[in-house]
Amino acid sequence: MQDAPPPPTAAIIGGGPAGLRAAETLARGGVRVTVHERLPSVGRKLLMAGRGGLNLTHAEALPDFLARYREAEPWLAPAIGAFPPAALTAWCEGLGQPVFTGSSGRVFPRAMKASPLLRAWLGRLAALGVGIRTRRRWLGWDADGALRFETADGIVTERADVTVLALGGASWPRLGSDGAWQALLPGLTAPFRPANCGFVIRWSPHLRARAAGQPLKRIVARFGNQAVPGEAVITEAGIEGGAIYVLSAPLRGAIAASGAAILSLDLRPDLALPVLRQRLSMPRQGRSLPGFLRRQAGLSPAAIALVQEALHGGADGSDLAALIKDLPLRLTAPAPLARAISTAGGLRRDALDERFMLRDRPGVFAAGEMLDWEAPTGGYLLQAALSTGVAAAEGALAWLRERGRP
Ligand SMILES: Cc1cc2nc3c(=O)[nH]c(=O)nc-3n(C[C@H](O)[C@H](O)[C@H](O)COP(=O)(O)OP(=O)(O)OC[C@H]3O[C@@H](n4cnc5c(N)ncnc54)[C@H](O)[C@@H]3O)c2cc1C
Repeated sequence: MQDAPPPPTAAIIGGGPAGLRAAETLARGGVRVTVHERLPSVGRKLLMAGRGGLNLTHAEALPDFLARYREAEPWLAPAIGAFPPAALTAWCEGLGQPVFTGSSGRVFPRAMKASPLLRAWLGRLAALGVGIRTRRRWLGWDADGALRFETADGIVTERADVTVLALGGASWPRLGSDGAWQALLPGLTAPFRPANCGFVIRWSPHLRARAAGQPLKRIVARFGNQAVPGEAVITEAGIEGGAIYVLSAPLRGAIAASGAAILSLDLRPDLALPVLRQRLSMPRQGRSLPGFLRRQAGLSPAAIALVQEALHGGADGSDLAALIKDLPLRLTAPAPLARAISTAGGLRRDALDERFMLRDRPGVFAAGEMLDWEAPTGGYLLQAALSTGVAAAEGALAWLRERGRP
């Protein structure tokens, strides 16, 4: 009797959510999988994402969900359709992490943190026989097509039947994804840009000294035809926070086109303009403007500082209520990529086939944030990272089957 042939092998490069989900899928498909990660441990950005509450996905209807990916929707829809939000939550619960849906529709593990999920996930991967090699930086391919890695012992090369690249974007480089891989795939990438990022505003020294670091709670941020309720934070350099991140793609586009974008804040969205006007029509009775705004409009110190900054900048002070409901901020640039929550740009759609395989490198697939898509915060980032991880692995399994590898 003949010995069974050895199982096919897969190299997963990058131990983030996309790479680990690809590893799990390939290992279940009978492939011998090794994950190669440049840092001393895997999943560092996932752990950081869990710091403020790990927003896994979103419970809205799938067509609305898919529309969040804007131009990338047609590209990602098959992958997200095959591993949709419901499958992601079932997967998370299968790892012993029950989830709940917040009032905004965002889905979180009950533990809120990422660490219990990652721990259970790594346990499952170990049980599936997935090997994880850390402190290995991928350097591309040698002349014979073998994978090259930089390790503590020097450069090593390795071969695998299939490879999944899951190298992440270029934000928060200390968490591992530094975008250096772009140089290893020349001609195949769109330039990196910050996504879900803050913006630069030329604050006066006075505003900076008084308000930097202060939150703006329960505001509505408006740009174009979008109005986003949420929070923001005034920073030394400008403004950041959830309500701003949602608008970051159109704001970035407007700044690229015309050098600046005017963002409007409603600092009291819960009060209708006539009500606010009525409140502010009372005599000041010797109160300072900050004292008056605090008492009559219920504004926070940060919001008051913004109103005063606008007045010093020449805004019309004859209708303070209108200014509070529509406070203009002039944004002049996105905040640096290293500070952004995620990255736009990366490996272009036309560099890959419909199975996420590199057109010019048969057997090499790619997944996750390294691909050229972007989405707002709200769970859309992890969902797309995990769904494309599954899709790239399924693509690799189909490709192996076509070559007679079980
Ligand atoms: C502060 C913060 C909060 C976030 N919160 C959320 C959230 O609540 N919900 C959400 O959906 N998303 C959130 N995100 C985004 C989310 O974490 C990412 O979109 C997701 O981690 C992307 O997964 P990935 O596997 O594609 O890339 P990554 O997680 O970046 O993983 C890529 C891996 O590749 C490794 N690597 C890179 N280059 C090499 C190389 N040359 N050789 C070997 N290994 C390499 C890196 O070290 C890294 O481990 C947050 C991000 C940040 C920064």
